[in-house]
Amino acid sequence: MSGPNVHRDARHMALAQVGAQGQERIAAASALVVGVGGLGCAAATYLASAGAGELCLVDFDAVDATNLGRQVLFGPGDIGDAKAAIAADKLAQQNPAIRIRAITDRLDESALREAVAKAHVVLDCTDNFATRFQVNDACVDAGRCLVSGSAIRFEGQLAVFGPDYSGSPCYRCLYTEADESLLDCAGNGVFAPVPGVIGTMMAVEALKFLAGLDSPRGTLRLYEAGSGNFHSVNIPKRPDCPACG
Ligand SMILES: [Zn+2]
Repeated sequence: MSGPNVHRDARHMALAQVGAQGQERIAAASALVVGVGGLGCAAATYLASAGAGELCLVDFDAVDATNLGRQVLFGPGDIGDAKAAIAADKLAQQNPAIRIRAITDRLDESALREAVAKAHVVLDCTDNFATRFQVNDACVDAGRCLVSGSAIRFEGQLAVFGPDYSGSPCYRCLYTEADESLLDCAGNGVFAPVPGVIGTMMAVEALKFLAGLDSPRGTLRLYEAGSGNFHSVNIPKRPDCPACG
């Protein structure tokens, strides 16, 4: 991977909060994006354009016609092809200076843990609790910052966890296996730009973390697209949490 580019990254380096030092940290960092759907397309696009040095995109799914309304890296010609591979190709054209790896196999637990341990920040852009819990547990055990997002109907959610879980909550402090029925995108529908809003906010939080900026931890931010309102609630740490308790 190469360092910051004085032209491409100029507007970041002009920011007092980022500067050359922050951009060097971003350029030296590795981000793992698990799930390249509506959230992952938006998050990965900004991580790539902002010069995150190494991106690893994980998705075993193929592009489907029902994805095209909101998964903005894909077009009709991509239907049937592996999402992670298509996204990696398009983002490599967007920013040839970064390294992008696509994992198109279904990761077992040990492969997922290995991928998490190699990353500085992990973005959970998946759509099911089983994978979300696995990603969370790997982040807690490896001490990695986890940026978690979700979008369904007109609602979006965003939270940042870790990398120090000793005094702050994890994703399992928020949800348990009993909540499984909450997420069903196909059945409930999703308003197209909502995953884009949340995925973009996930990139904001991941890039802030990589640049060394502060970010609220253990706070759940909720976006309600119907009213256009955001609000935040604190996530208490569960003393009996199976992952971080
Ligand atoms: Zn926990």
